[in-house]
Amino acid sequence: MGNAMKLIDIPKTCPECGRVFARADRPRQRMQVKAKMVVLAGVLLTCAWMVLLTGVFYAWRLTVVPRSIEELLGMAAVVLAPGTLLGGWAIKMPRVARRKCPKCPWYEDYVIDGVR
Ligand SMILES: [Zn+2]
Repeated sequence: MGNAMKLIDIPKTCPECGRVFARADRPRQRMQVKAKMVVLAGVLLTCAWMVLLTGVFYAWRLTVVPRSIEELLGMAAVVLAPGTLLGGWAIKMPRVARRKCPKCPWYEDYVIDGVR
């Protein structure tokens, strides 16, 4: 993997055979493994958080019934906050784009700066 770079810095010709890449084979960007792990952690954390909240409410014999749409949204925000934070972090992480030559076996992975 190379250093972080912008999509524009990815070579437009193959360094092996010199083939000019068409605009059409602009590489698709995907999440790094690290970002995927963060998303997974976010899902697991949300599950654990829900279990914890449920346990606390059960232990304290609390029943929470939202009486308005604002209360419902507030509860949803509390429940989803940890997952949303991690998800937002994962989205901002640099992405990987693979440039592949259609003519020869050359390919290279480029790390693209995340969402600015
Ligand atoms: Zn090539």
